[in-house]
Amino acid sequence: MQDLFSLQGRVAMVTGANTGIGQGIAIALAQAGADVVAVGRSEPTDTGQAVEATGRRFRSIRADLGSIEPVDRVLAECIEQMGRLDILVNNAGIIRRADCIDFTEADWDAVMNTNLKTVFFLSQAAARRMIPAGGGKIINIASLLSFQGGIRVPSYTASKSGVAGLTKILANEWASKNLSVNAIAPGYFDTNNTEALRADENRNRAILERIPAGRWGKPSDIGGAAVFLASRASDYVNGVVLPVDGGWLAR
Ligand code: NAP
Repeated sequence: MQDLFSLQGRVAMVTGANTGIGQGIAIALAQAGADVVAVGRSEPTDTGQAVEATGRRFRSIRADLGSIEPVDRVLAECIEQMGRLDILVNNAGIIRRADCIDFTEADWDAVMNTNLKTVFFLSQAAARRMIPAGGGKIINIASLLSFQGGIRVPSYTASKSGVAGLTKILANEWASKNLSVNAIAPGYFDTNNTEALRADENRNRAILERIPAGRWGKPSDIGGAAVFLASRASDYVNGVVLPVDGGWLAR
């Protein structure tokens, strides 16, 4: 059974792995045996140390994923440095908060470009490598706002609803090519992304009261789902959006 979840010999690329959920996923994949390539605009020093402490190889590629300009270079550097790519985790994402009535085009475009457009084109570039090499796994990071509307985050909701749709169409086209595409929908996690919510006493209390598990998620809470979707254990799982939310959606 352990073999089913082993990522020994695989190379995983994780975007936005310097902090938060991406860091939690990168470390979990390394603990399961994968070498890790972190892609982002900040140096992932802590993540690199944690990955190397597991005995796995770690490489960092600097790229601003707010546009698709670096996509081909990122793939080329990954192959050059690691020789292969088996797992892509599209984690990098941003959020902008304002009432819908006031929301700006700049906040719309920034979020849609990072959270949705780059996810599609990085997945496409990865698939062009993975399919001829025999297949692989793509894991997108969705959100509760792939299922719900949310408040004051219109471009985020649109982007994460889009990520759920993309996960399904890519799964439909690539499942027969041994390339699985699935998503994880984190609930409320204690990261930079949700700092404003935790700082607002009323929102923080309302959120905690609604989570059946009674606490915010920690980046390490995501690791098991990521390893499952990256491993042979999920070979017949395609196009799902798996909530890891302490029960929020069950409420
Ligand atoms: P976070 O701590 O803010 O991490 C976001 C990551 O994305 C950081 O590594 C960030 O890099 C990277 N990133 C943002 N814009 C980028 C760009 N233009 N180019 C390259 N990298 C970029 O937040 P998080 O909560 O861990 O978020 C990770 C993912 O989980 C996001 O997709 C988010 O939407 C999703 N999510 C989070 C929650 C939650 O409750 N926290 C819930 C549902 C979904 P920098 O450090 O350089 O900015």
